[in-house]
Amino acid sequence: MSALLSQLEAILGDGGVLVGDALAERLIPHGHPLAIVRPRTTDEVSEVLKACSETGQPVIPYGGLTGLVEATASNATEVAISLERMNQIEEIDTASRTMTVQAGVALQLVQEAADAEDMMFPLDIGARGSATIGGNVATNAGGNRVIRYGMMRDQILGMEVVLADGTILSSLNKIIKNNTGYDLKQLFIGSEGTLGIVTRLVLRLRPKPVSQQMAFLAANSFDEVTDILNRLDARLGGSLSAFEVLWQDYYRLVTTPPAAGKPPLSHDYAYYILVEALGGDDSRDADRFLQVLSDAMEEGVVADGAIAQSQAERDAMWAIRDDVGQVGQHRPVFAFDISVPLSKMDSYVIELRQQLDTSWPGNHLSVFGHLGDGNLHIVVGVGDKLAKPAVEAVVYAGLPERGGSVSAEHGIGVQKKQYLGMSRSADEILVMQALKKTLDPNDILNPGKIFA
Ligand code: ZN
Repeated sequence: MSALLSQLEAILGDGGVLVGDALAERLIPHGHPLAIVRPRTTDEVSEVLKACSETGQPVIPYGGLTGLVEATASNATEVAISLERMNQIEEIDTASRTMTVQAGVALQLVQEAADAEDMMFPLDIGARGSATIGGNVATNAGGNRVIRYGMMRDQILGMEVVLADGTILSSLNKIIKNNTGYDLKQLFIGSEGTLGIVTRLVLRLRPKPVSQQMAFLAANSFDEVTDILNRLDARLGGSLSAFEVLWQDYYRLVTTPPAAGKPPLSHDYAYYILVEALGGDDSRDADRFLQVLSDAMEEGVVADGAIAQSQAERDAMWAIRDDVGQVGQHRPVFAFDISVPLSKMDSYVIELRQQLDTSWPGNHLSVFGHLGDGNLHIVVGVGDKLAKPAVEAVVYAGLPERGGSVSAEHGIGVQKKQYLGMSRSADEILVMQALKKTLDPNDILNPGKIFA
């Protein structure tokens, strides 16, 4: 064991440094590090980073390892730091509607703890069981209810973070308004572990909704889709909590065997929309939801619609939207997470389809996404796994001219490094790199990520 690892073991005690068999038996995507260190307190994180800083030891921060852009990739010269032993919910303050947690707690446990106190932590993603709150911060996670509650950034009131040299910045603020100089926590949200290690958080909780209304709607044109979005958002009194759009190809894929989902609407429409509203008054909310949708149908904006009548039907609707695994039928596939302003989304998808058809006739394209957030997930299968760079070039090509983004909610990591310049100007990247240099002058925190 190297001198540094012995030093880390002295800091962390028994079980604090995993090497050898204990390391080998872990399932770790994208390479194995030299060791995984497992601090139990913020002070231990600080001591570990101080020791690593002094020796120039690269450190890769681990959350639940559910990221999608290889932001936790490591090699045998790097030490991973996992906050899996810092997984406590420290306090729920029902008056301030806050929850103070350690960064290693799983998202689902936070949701359940809020629920048990009759409140809600609204961030939700498919990986909720394994993804940690700290990882949600590092990626500024999004998911299905951003249209109503915002991304992870909007759920954070306070943060404690350890800088590369071991400095602890502790700002466990519980107040919504606090304009006292720079809001430093914002720097670390979405920084993919390159600026500091988040150790504790004060999360903002919301009132728990008592009603959930859902429907699947169909539209014949994209203009109708945006019209429906604007109407629902305006008339549902702020309760619209999801507006997920499925282009026809994806809707057919997830509602046709072998997919388990039964189609709530026929397969003939161009666009399908899963709509959800969360409210505080069950019978009034249901009446209003029905009224808003029937008005839209009467006026011909909505081509067809099916309203869920039971919890089983609501769950089935979400299951259809979330049955992303069906894209595997056309393996090998390449998956993308991009943003396009709504006014330019239709032309982007039409152009993408044309270009894919020209280069790869018979390709499989699935498009769906969080339309209210301008966020599309695109899955492309062209029958050739070596075509990835060529397909990437086509998918990203139409974004800069439309003011789109090469990453909506997954980050940059390693996978999108070479495309960062398509969404950020050279000056923006220079400022980012200057911040990185200031906070981590020896480049020990997640080196080689985000920037090419
Ligand atoms: Zn998503």
